[in-house]
Amino acid sequence: VTRPQTTQLLEGKKSAAAIREEAAAMVQELRAAGTVPGLALVLATADESAAWYTRAIARAGEKVGIDVRVERLADDASAAVVRSALQRLSADDTVHGIILQTPLPPGVDGVEVATAIAPEKDVDGANPVSIGRLTAGLPAFAPATAAAVMRILDDHGVELTGRRTVVVGRSLVVGKPAAMLLLERDATVTICHSRTRDLAARTSEAEVLVAAVGRPRMLGAEHIGAGAVVIDVGTTPDEDGNLVGDVDAEAVTGHAGALTPVPGGVGPVTTALLLLNTVTAAARAAG
Ligand code: NAP
Repeated sequence: VTRPQTTQLLEGKKSAAAIREEAAAMVQELRAAGTVPGLALVLATADESAAWYTRAIARAGEKVGIDVRVERLADDASAAVVRSALQRLSADDTVHGIILQTPLPPGVDGVEVATAIAPEKDVDGANPVSIGRLTAGLPAFAPATAAAVMRILDDHGVELTGRRTVVVGRSLVVGKPAAMLLLERDATVTICHSRTRDLAARTSEAEVLVAAVGRPRMLGAEHIGAGAVVIDVGTTPDEDGNLVGDVDAEAVTGHAGALTPVPGGVGPVTTALLLLNTVTAAARAAG
């Protein structure tokens, strides 16, 4: 067992900048050929962090030349209202990407309403058809957070073939698609969740560990094998509004081989990929 002296910080900044540059270059070409990539952000909540995240995507999108519009629905919008907004945007030729923000009003099932997003505009892989296609090995947009996990691993040259990987969390937006994408790359994948017995025993076997739970600092040194590559997807705001990851970074530094920071790891790459997916969708629509 090796005990590295230093834990490499897997920052997302460089990857995110490269993705945004790629998107901006594609936008220039598309605009020159008469297509303006359009992104619609659908918001049906008064939740502050959702509003903050929506503004962040909108600003980043405008910077790369995407025409961003925010569709603000009522906080108590019904499933029918959300669906009809998604259908209208799906039929709108000026919109190439659609993102449905969470949380949704009480009683609105996110997976059910996301079936109203046209798969070719489903840039955050929210429509279950997208997950189904991915699982079948067919082209589709992956949920951007799961795709961001893969992008960070790839940009840092982390080998996946045949390696023991553990994903903690099985949500449809992060854990499941991340596990599927890792499997697609020939990793040996274990998925853990709230009913997993002896979590530390499972996670400490991982050579590559993806934490997507949403419980601040729940994973400490006892959960992580010496030298493991750890991707921390968790982003829980603390009482001051600062984002805290699922991994206790202080406890695992000098033990883990590599770790993504929170903030500054998966988050910025996710946002950048949403933009690139939108531009890719626009390029496909333009033929
Ligand atoms: P979620 O829907 O609440 O899912 C959490 C998962 O964690 C569930 O599968 C749950 O298991 C599992 N879990 C809960 N407690 C556990 C425990 N004690 N031990 C093991 N597993 C446990 O959350 P999510 O939407 O996947 O998001 C996860 C985190 O990622 C959150 O912090 C979220 O804010 C963050 N996130 C970040 C980004 C980004 O771009 N950085 C994007 C999306 C989400 P069960 O299925 O058994 O309940």
